[in-house]
Amino acid sequence: MEIVHVSAECYPVAKAGGLGDVVGALPKYQNGLGHNAKVIMPMYRTKFLSNNEWDVVHKGYTHLHDYWFNYTVIREATNKLGFELYLVDIYGLLDRDKIYGYGDDTERFFSFQIAVSDWLNTWSNTPDVVHVHDHHCALIPFMFKYCFSFRKLENVATVLTIHNAQYQGQTGMEKTVYIPEWDVWKRGLLEWEGALNPLACGIRCAWKVTTVSPTYLIEMRHSSMGLEPLLEYEKGKCSGILNGIDTKVWDPATDHYFEHHYSAATADQGKQKNKEALCFEYGLDPRKPLITFIGRLVGDKGADLIPQAVEDSFYYIGRRMCFLILGSGLPSIEGHLQSIRDMSRGDYNTYIGYDEALSHRLYAGADFILMPSRVEPCGLNQLYALRYGTVPVVRNTGGLHDTVLDYGDPGGYGIRFLHASVQDMTHAIWRATELFANREMLKDVRQRMMQLDFSWEASVRAYLDLYERMRSGQ
Ligand code: ADP
Repeated sequence: MEIVHVSAECYPVAKAGGLGDVVGALPKYQNGLGHNAKVIMPMYRTKFLSNNEWDVVHKGYTHLHDYWFNYTVIREATNKLGFELYLVDIYGLLDRDKIYGYGDDTERFFSFQIAVSDWLNTWSNTPDVVHVHDHHCALIPFMFKYCFSFRKLENVATVLTIHNAQYQGQTGMEKTVYIPEWDVWKRGLLEWEGALNPLACGIRCAWKVTTVSPTYLIEMRHSSMGLEPLLEYEKGKCSGILNGIDTKVWDPATDHYFEHHYSAATADQGKQKNKEALCFEYGLDPRKPLITFIGRLVGDKGADLIPQAVEDSFYYIGRRMCFLILGSGLPSIEGHLQSIRDMSRGDYNTYIGYDEALSHRLYAGADFILMPSRVEPCGLNQLYALRYGTVPVVRNTGGLHDTVLDYGDPGGYGIRFLHASVQDMTHAIWRATELFANREMLKDVRQRMMQLDFSWEASVRAYLDLYERMRSGQ
């Protein structure tokens, strides 16, 4: 099958979170099963762009309402990622350092989707499936069906994967003029609660919709920032497929971001050496359990709860653990996490920023990883942690519910708590310190988690089954 993924992120080209990891791995594993999967994404000004060789494959000219623009499609020359990678360059809109966060993101991603559709429309064949990811690409199914100039694409099967329904790309209905000449009778498909809502439009117009874990799909019908009735109505075409992890990139035996490699058999010694290196660098005591958090510092991740949970842990449990926090996000949370550094007695530190290498070193060197998420569509951190023998301490929600069993339950290996509250978190941290003190049990739990298989192999088949069902009209 020829499968075209369209996404705003793809590791290692440009990544802000889990979306990048998924789009950087899924096509590689699809190709491993004999398919022809490729990725199209915007051409940001990233290191990957300047460090690789590219061929120009297409030049086009199209428009965002009355703004006519040239676009260029380039292809990575060596297929080094295990799939064909295409970048779309739009001068003045996509040629930025960051992926998101600009005042004209609506214009940037609308133009990107228009350019992608325009280019696909010139292909001599049509792909079997166009798989779009999140709201930045969710208007493509509408464009294929209802834009007069893309009529050649109207029968192309489309899949929308929702990686996070908290972000829907809403904008004013006046921006419908950006979409190239379309069937105005279909205006209702673009509108949700009085706004132009790309994610809602994608849910309506894509042939199939997936979310990144089965539990998140169920949760979304009750809580998804206003999309609940739509998801209930469209439930027949929705399914939850758990993300996998790229075990070629995420392997403690070969990970090039740190020196002390280890396997399940040598995990205790290997992790201790990585922990000592981190503790030395960040002024922490390596004899205590090292608890980390890696992620976006936003309310959805429960990051606002961390400072108080750290203080309460020190106060109620005692200074029996160390914390090392890595993240970036809301300035208020960043500031709070930095300010409590003052009270550290060699047991708390934080790195504010995005650092891929440090994240790998933390998965390897930490004993526990905190995930107090209020919303967690799948969560990749806990999957990486499991593979690296780091016990996940998670709120029981979404993909965390699907992947982490409490060590108090038969066959369990993690620590789960119910509410996104400081109290529940502090209690879970206490359980972590107790587990750490019981070396035999910690060893058992580590062995159990490192045997788990959350690789892409199973999930990739679920996606391929879905594509096959679409092709056979189911
Ligand atoms: P998200 O909701 O952010 O997509 P996921 O758990 O699905 O959450 O994926 C997060 C990914 O981003 C993981 O690979 C994690 O290691 C990485 N990550 C998040 N924040 C940072 C950071 N500040 N530095 C390095 N890696 C980060």
